[in-house]
Amino acid sequence: MIDRDDIAVWVDESRCKACDICVSNCPAGVLAMRIEPNAVLGKMIEVVYPHECIGCRDCELHCPDFAIYVANKGYKFAKLTATSKERAVAVRANKFYKL
Ligand code: SF4
Ligand code: SF4
Repeated sequence: MIDRDDIAVWVDESRCKACDICVSNCPAGVLAMRIEPNAVLGKMIEVVYPHECIGCRDCELHCPDFAIYVANKGYKFAKLTATSKERAVAVRANKFYKL
């Protein structure tokens, strides 16, 4: 895994198989799928709200392909807010796609 401390969460798209698992586990609505015609499933993961990431690592821990990474604990992560929780619910209701 690559260590970074200049961004909260990032993706290696060459490893991602667009399974939605990270999106379904993110409590802060940071992640979502985007339409990507060139990808095998026609979609790709995107870090839509990196500054809202709370550093819980649920995405990283659940990704079956080691395709998403979270910064070290030293990074100044956001706090979970009502707005980010609501966005997470809305993204799930939108079949994991960007709102
Ligand atoms: S670390 Fe937590 S809040 Fe940040 S993108 Fe992953 S699941 Fe979402
Ligand atoms: S869990 Fe991993 S493979 Fe699945 S969409 Fe997220 S980054 Fe891609």
